[in-house]
Amino acid sequence: MRLTFFESIKQYVGFTDESSAALRAFHPIAKPFFGPIIDDFYDAIEAHPDASAAITGGQAQIERLKRTLVQWLETMLLGPHDEPYYEMRARIGRVHIRIALPQAFMFTAMDRIRVRLLDIVRERSAGGNFPDERRIATALHQVLDLELAIMLETYREDLVTKNRNAERLATIGQFAASIGHELRNPLGVMESSLFLLRQHLGPEAAGAHNVAKHLDRIGGEITRANKTIDDLLDLARNRPPHRQRTDVRTLVERTAATTLLPATVTVEVNAPPDLTVDVDPNQFQQVLVNLFINAGQAMNGSGRIFVEGAALPTGGTRLRVRDEGPGIPVEARYRIFEALFTTKAKGSGLGLALCRRILEAHGGTIDLEPSERGASFVLNLSSPEESVVSGTAVG
Ligand code: ADP
Repeated sequence: MRLTFFESIKQYVGFTDESSAALRAFHPIAKPFFGPIIDDFYDAIEAHPDASAAITGGQAQIERLKRTLVQWLETMLLGPHDEPYYEMRARIGRVHIRIALPQAFMFTAMDRIRVRLLDIVRERSAGGNFPDERRIATALHQVLDLELAIMLETYREDLVTKNRNAERLATIGQFAASIGHELRNPLGVMESSLFLLRQHLGPEAAGAHNVAKHLDRIGGEITRANKTIDDLLDLARNRPPHRQRTDVRTLVERTAATTLLPATVTVEVNAPPDLTVDVDPNQFQQVLVNLFINAGQAMNGSGRIFVEGAALPTGGTRLRVRDEGPGIPVEARYRIFEALFTTKAKGSGLGLALCRRILEAHGGTIDLEPSERGASFVLNLSSPEESVVSGTAVG
């Protein structure tokens, strides 16, 4: 029988039911020290500019994370160290990737916890009468190495996905340029023929129910085909953004008015009146159009789209675009930004890939965030000053 990834790494380090029992026995001894261990953990992050860059939500986020870390330590010692445990740890790993925590900090952070926990074991045994010292120390090393292996696996999975995406984009790029141009001409001819056909028929014949329905359908499909070609060419071209200060409210309202949405889909904007972003307005409008169209389709043509904008304490801007649709099933969540991934019969799977590419070209991010209802996309844009600072830090 094939072992799961978790079973195989447990077997490799020799982690058994006895190891789990040793950790459980250590739990009441270690618990009083969780507070200082966690404070030390976050002090180290806050003191380090590159590590703290991953924490964008200030003190409130740190408080939340501290509570999560208590939970993390609790479950690490109490187990059970089974498959759901592995799944839970992998989910935490994916959060690290989402907030762009560099791998090196995940590793060194784990070392701080290891040193502190082993200090507790040593101090306890210095007081005498602690026969379990070696058993517990070994189990701690084993479980922390398992944690590292799981975290590294999630980083690896992420890298594989990104590479696959880059390969796809490169392949799409090669085809897009040639096929896209080839299709433009016949579509242009169809478009003008449709226009002339309407004229020849005259308003009465063209307006007759059965005729109008088909003429509209031809027009709609030509528009859809053109949009697919535009998206393909944009993905292939990867144009650098021409940034200008852009008023968020105006941009959202203008986009909502020009996107072809059913009248029963409304867009509600909630952003401070003076909120601006430093973006290429055309490219950013394209991002919003794609998000609005997806939301409109997900809500089956009726419901509300909410766009919330806020300035971040770090100087950047956050936009959230959410809808009242059914949301995105768990199994699709990690794939929706892949080029060509679609769950729609007539989808191209290019919209979100294009959104991500545009955001990344702006030095920003777009992610799906957990939500109780509908799909919720978060767009983060750093301020130009921040980009300069991180640019110098990296360079
Ligand atoms: P397409 O719309 O052509 O399928 P996208 O890249 O825009 O391509 O979206 C990829 C997939 O993500 C969609 O097929 C759909 O399954 C999912 N998706 C995107 N936006 C939403 C949304 N607002 N609600 C539910 N699912 C969505």
